[in-house]
Amino acid sequence: MSRFFSEKYSTLTPYTPGEQPTERQYVKLNTNESPFPPSDKAMAAAAQAAGQLQLYPDPTRRELTAAVAAMCGVNADEVLLTNGSDEILNFAFMAFCDGAHPAVFPDITYGFYKVFAELNGVPYRTVPLRDDLSVDPADFYGANGTVFIANPNAPTGLTLSVAAVEEILKNNPDNVVVIDEAYVDFGAESCVSLIRKYDNLLVTQTFSKSRSMAGARLGFGVGQSSLINDLNTVKYSTNPYNINRLTMAAGLGTLADEAYTRENCRTIMRTRESTTAALRSLGFELADSYTNFLFAKYPGIDGERLYRQLKERGILVRHFAQPRIADYIRITVGSETEMQVLMGALREIVEEC
Ligand code: PMP
Repeated sequence: MSRFFSEKYSTLTPYTPGEQPTERQYVKLNTNESPFPPSDKAMAAAAQAAGQLQLYPDPTRRELTAAVAAMCGVNADEVLLTNGSDEILNFAFMAFCDGAHPAVFPDITYGFYKVFAELNGVPYRTVPLRDDLSVDPADFYGANGTVFIANPNAPTGLTLSVAAVEEILKNNPDNVVVIDEAYVDFGAESCVSLIRKYDNLLVTQTFSKSRSMAGARLGFGVGQSSLINDLNTVKYSTNPYNINRLTMAAGLGTLADEAYTRENCRTIMRTRESTTAALRSLGFELADSYTNFLFAKYPGIDGERLYRQLKERGILVRHFAQPRIADYIRITVGSETEMQVLMGALREIVEEC
């Protein structure tokens, strides 16, 4: 730390993203990226937009906002596009949390929530998951703070029904409830339609997973226009041009090719089911996942060891050295071939142990 670093950030522990190694080619199953390339339409549109990089992008992003709104069945003033969904989540911490509105989220969830709270100097409280690592919706009733729930949750892969989320909304009428739907396209139910009834709901989604655009950084939030206006105030006070021209064009190209996205999601879900069955028959324990990743443990072998032994064999997964989940590894659902390589390595590891 330099002697110039602001006092207010001196105790901040930054988020640790999954490894992005360059020294060796790994089977990369650690950051929940798509195994498929972006749509051809996205790539062609981005290539064309490159010819206009001398110009700032449209800060209102009229065209892409309209396309996202149409996809979600909402009005354009109910959508805000951001630089990945991480940015809309940070905006929500900035806009809706303070001393009187602490952040409230599960003890085991997306690690960035804690970092955003600390970055913004916002108090936070964590709510323990049940023993089976599911969220008990009743634990969030009357939360007395701004609620953040990843649904499906990460890294557990478990989901709450729309009815359960609605109960949380009803029981927090004076607080914002943020539902992070980064993984919703892999078989879970979206809560977007609830924005009609609840002025305290913000739903966030991303193009990083189901739309193969993690490298382009595109996310968005959906809520009633009053909430979106507040978030726009924060956006225009931080980075009005937060979506670059290439990403904006690629986003439009992707939305013009929904069939490709849907087909890829179906393939990932099929691969997820076959890998779940293969892992179980090898002796792994894991719940049914509603995401593009699996959260699994093997009795008698801790997660750190599984992670290291897979890495030695050229396969990267994610391990969280955190109470209650240290036994687990999180495995991104890749291509069929990648999953076969994974299963071959796991069979060897299990036999050796
Ligand atoms: N929410 C959750 C639960 C995530 O796992 C991620 C991915 N790391 C994000 C949000 C952010 O994704 P992105 O910024 O790529 O949209």
